[in-house]
Amino acid sequence: MKLILLGPPGVGKGTQANRLKTYFNILHFSTGHILREEVKSESEIGRKAQIYLDGGKLVPDSILLEMMAQRLSQKDCMPGYLLDGFPRTIPQAEGLNQILDQIQHNLNAVVSLTADEEELINRLVLRGIDSGRSDDTPEIILRRQKIYWDQTAPLINYYQKSGLVKEVNGIGEIPEITERIIKVLK
Ligand code: AMP
Repeated sequence: MKLILLGPPGVGKGTQANRLKTYFNILHFSTGHILREEVKSESEIGRKAQIYLDGGKLVPDSILLEMMAQRLSQKDCMPGYLLDGFPRTIPQAEGLNQILDQIQHNLNAVVSLTADEEELINRLVLRGIDSGRSDDTPEIILRRQKIYWDQTAPLINYYQKSGLVKEVNGIGEIPEITERIIKVLK
């Protein structure tokens, strides 16, 4: 099972991804998490990415594409994976298509989790109080929402053309949302 999980910041992509990876026994790649680890370990990617992460801005496409091309071509990815937070822009989606062609992988679905924007902002402000994430402040939360609607939401249309999109209501209890996702994937 090879999946992309799309949805605005705060919709619960990370939570659902963790549950889905167990259910389908696949790898989970959160590019936000990977980038935060790179920053922590002060790697070359981390040094390049930090300024964008701290400002709630998108890290350049070239960095993401190189990072994901390397990761996805490793053998352990063959059975399946779930991409959480990638792609985030049309050029990333186009780059990902090329990578997948090269390694002969086919996507099974793009799950689009939906929710009301106001609800999301409230959730993120609450998460920011105890997450310790440098990008969970109200100002940056608003910026990250805007970037989502401007740059990432167009991916829904992009993937709709290949008939891959499965829309799922992201509001409700966590297990209930997982069930909805599993149901549309069957
Ligand atoms: P997330 O944990 O998915 O909310 O991502 C946190 C931050 O990591 C984002 O605000 C970006 O700075 C960066 N990031 C994660 N994934 C990507 C991506 N696909 N493209 C560009 N920047 C990304």
